[in-house]
Amino acid sequence: MTSSSLTAPAIHVPALEPVPVDGCDVCGALSRQREAARATGSPITVRQCSQELANHPHRKTERA
Ligand SMILES: [Zn+2]
Repeated sequence: MTSSSLTAPAIHVPALEPVPVDGCDVCGALSRQREAARATGSPITVRQCSQELANHPHRKTERA
């Protein structure tokens, strides 16, 4: 019996990228902006958008 070493799952995970909060317009806009920046090859803008996303405050539950 050969002991199989643990193989890491091949999941593409972008390193430490905050995800937009569902239903948040600001997050959605930032996410779009980030994707656009990524498409145009602007890593600095991508970082800024990620940072803004991470810093965007949210209430835990907000239902009207
Ligand atoms: Zn937000």
